Amino acid sequence: MSKYFSSRFASLEPYVPGEQPQDMSYIKLNTNESPFDPPKEVVPVIREAARSIRLYSDPESNELRQAIADYYGLEPENVMATNGSDEALNYAFMAFCDEEHPIVFPEITYGFYPVIAKLNNIPYETISLREDYTIDVREYEGINKNICIANPNAPTGIALSLEEVEQIVRTNPDNIIIIDEAYVDFGARSAVPLLYRYDNLLITQTFSKSRSLAGGRLGFILGAKDLIADMNTLRNASNPYNINRMTAKAGIVTLRENTYFKNSCQAIQFNRRYTSRALEALGFEILPSSANFLFIRSERIGGEELYLRLKEKGVLIRHFSDPKISDWNRVTIGTKVQMDKFLAKVEEIFVEQDEEGAK
Ligand SMILES: *Cc1c(COP(=O)(O)O)cnc(C)c1O
Repeated sequence: MSKYFSSRFASLEPYVPGEQPQDMSYIKLNTNESPFDPPKEVVPVIREAARSIRLYSDPESNELRQAIADYYGLEPENVMATNGSDEALNYAFMAFCDEEHPIVFPEITYGFYPVIAKLNNIPYETISLREDYTIDVREYEGINKNICIANPNAPTGIALSLEEVEQIVRTNPDNIIIIDEAYVDFGARSAVPLLYRYDNLLITQTFSKSRSLAGGRLGFILGAKDLIADMNTLRNASNPYNINRMTAKAGIVTLRENTYFKNSCQAIQFNRRYTSRALEALGFEILPSSANFLFIRSERIGGEELYLRLKEKGVLIRHFSDPKISDWNRVTIGTKVQMDKFLAKVEEIFVEQDEEGAK
């Protein structure tokens, strides 16, 4: 830390992203990207958009917001486009939370929430999960506080039902409820229909996972028009051209290619079931996932050791050092070929362990 770094941030611990090796030598199952390319139309429109790169992008992202609004049966004023949904989460926390309005989220969830709370000097409270890693909705009912919940939750992959989400939104009418739907396309019910009935609900989604655009950095937040306007004030006060030209076009084309999108989500669901069964046969405990990853644990090997041994063998998965979940690993669902390689390496590790044990 330099002597000039503001003391406001002296104790800020930034979010630690999963490794992003810049060569392609690993089977990469650690940051929940899609294993599939985006629709083939994406690269040509990016190329075309790049021809105007000397000009600023549209600060309102109007064409993109219209496309998102059409897709969800909303109006463009219900949509703010963001540089990844992490940016949307930051604006939502910043706009609606402060000393008097703390934010509540599950104790085990996306690691970015406590970081943005601290960054913005927002007090936060956490609520533990049940023994089985599910969220106990009753603990969020009528608590009269702002709440942020990832649905499906990360890194567990477990989803709440639409009724459970509604229960939280309905019983906290004077507070903002943020539902982070980064993984919703892989099998959970979206809360978008609730937007027609509740004006305290915000929903974030991303093009990074189900839509294969992680490197394009595109997300959005949906909500009542006055909430979106508040966040737009902050966006225009910090980064008005937050969406670049190429990414805006890529997002529009990706939304249009809906059959491609549905097929790739289905392929992930199929590979998830396949991988889950194979891991079960190897004795793993697996949480019921509605996301594009599995959260797994084995009595035969510790979480960190499995992560390290797989890395030696060229497969990256995600391990979290938080002691509450350090026995576990999160494995992104890739192609079937990738999953077969991952499974083969896990079996190989178990065989090596048995040999080491026999010595
Ligand atoms: C990946 C992820 C996001 C955001 O990703 P972006 O690439 O910034 O859109 C948000 N929430 C959760 C739970 C995630 O896993």
